[in-house]
Amino acid sequence: MGEMSDFQRSEVPNWCPGCGDYAIMGAVKKALAELDIKPHQAVLASGVGCFAKLPYWVKVYGFVGLHGRTLPVAQGIKLANPKLKVIAFGGDGDGYGEGGNHFIHACRRNINIPYFVHNNEVFGLTTGQYSPTAEKGTKSKSSPKGSVESPVNPLALALSSGATFVARAYAGHLKEMVQIMKQAILHEGFAFVDIVQACPSFGKTIPVDKMVYLTSPFLSRGKALEKVVDDDKITLGVFYQEKKEE
Ligand code: SF4
Ligand code: MG
Repeated sequence: MGEMSDFQRSEVPNWCPGCGDYAIMGAVKKALAELDIKPHQAVLASGVGCFAKLPYWVKVYGFVGLHGRTLPVAQGIKLANPKLKVIAFGGDGDGYGEGGNHFIHACRRNINIPYFVHNNEVFGLTTGQYSPTAEKGTKSKSSPKGSVESPVNPLALALSSGATFVARAYAGHLKEMVQIMKQAILHEGFAFVDIVQACPSFGKTIPVDKMVYLTSPFLSRGKALEKVVDDDKITLGVFYQEKKEE
């Protein structure tokens, strides 16, 4: 097993104090160390947003792409060198807005990449416009009278697009998040994890009291879908993992 310090860079991140990105970055380092993946074996790919700076501060290979274009970049790297452990990072604006199309096709393509999406329901880097996952009626700089669209349901989108691993984590629960990330990294196929995270500067307060954990994944895609479209809690854990055909 490696050490988290194997992935430490000397530069100091410039995220705001209390940002969930710190915990997500720490969890990725811990997951890589516990899985004994060496720095030269991993590539982190991202797009644009506060979250997208994460590859700057982890001592592995990194590629920061265009807004919403994390997944094509990650898939290109994987195709060029399948031996690399390529991990893609998105944001709720980046990944479900600008990159929504790539998300759908990555799910059905099922290429062997874990995809971790930092979901804080806001465009943080541009100082607080509502994002595709914001609740209808959200007041923000770009929606002063409240947003008019219904939010994207990322887990439902992933399940209905054919993703073979679908999970949700919370950046405030480090141990559980690391466990889910490790399962996603080990999954053979596209492994999607929506990560609920705080943006203390522009986001809403996270309703932690609504969080509950699944005890085990659903046995069928249909049952998992039923749960995610009609969930009055913030359910966390692995919702669905398709078993590899023998
Ligand atoms: Fe984090 Fe929000 Fe600050 Fe961006 S604006 S670094 S998401 S707290
Ligand atoms: Mg965001």
